[in-house]
Amino acid sequence: MLKVGITGGIGSGKTTVCEIFELLNIPVFNADDSAKTLMVTDKVLIAEIKSAFGAVSYFEDGSLNRKHIAELVFSNPEKLALLNSFVHPAVFKAMELWVLEQTTPYVLKEAALLFESGSYLSNDFNILVSAPEKLRIARVMKRDNVTAEKVKERIQNQMPEEEKKTKADFIIDNNETEFLINQVLALHHQFIEIASKQKK
Ligand code: ATP
Repeated sequence: MLKVGITGGIGSGKTTVCEIFELLNIPVFNADDSAKTLMVTDKVLIAEIKSAFGAVSYFEDGSLNRKHIAELVFSNPEKLALLNSFVHPAVFKAMELWVLEQTTPYVLKEAALLFESGSYLSNDFNILVSAPEKLRIARVMKRDNVTAEKVKERIQNQMPEEEKKTKADFIIDNNETEFLINQVLALHHQFIEIASKQKK
């Protein structure tokens, strides 16, 4: 089974692209959703977070004190790296277990920080969903009802698109002029063919 990573900057349309793959019955593991779940369910991870960032990191009902964590890591790259060093291995483990349960020729692993976290290195292929910055800003402003400045701020915090392009094996152009469905179908057939050769 092939493991294919998929990422894209904010508003690039990676979730939309993953939905098309899901329509083709390809299972998608969402690393960001998994991280959110594990932070409140994985006992080892919870203990690590509490010991590094204090017991106040969690409320009495077990939910995460997001404001506390965000305040600590937002302006402190070392603390952010420490948090990631707890969360990323837990997500990686959950993902590996999930992969074992799948039976399709290939699976997708969606992660916002695919390249930043280095997790792309353990995949057979990696896809970048790309779109012009102007379009990404307009999409997120509409979807999240936020200002252009807020979106630009978030874009600034991500790895530049050009750098991501150098690390990706495939690029899906979500520029609204080339049909997404055609691009997804072409990749789908390519992965199925590669997977079938791998089996032989
Ligand atoms: P984020 O990183 O912020 O979660 P994302 O990369 O997952 O973003 P989506 O949520 O898939 O991006 O897309 C952003 C918005 O743009 C959504 O409202 C989506 O419906 C819209 N969108 C994405 N692709 C297209 C398209 N080709 N045509 C029209 N609208 C689109």
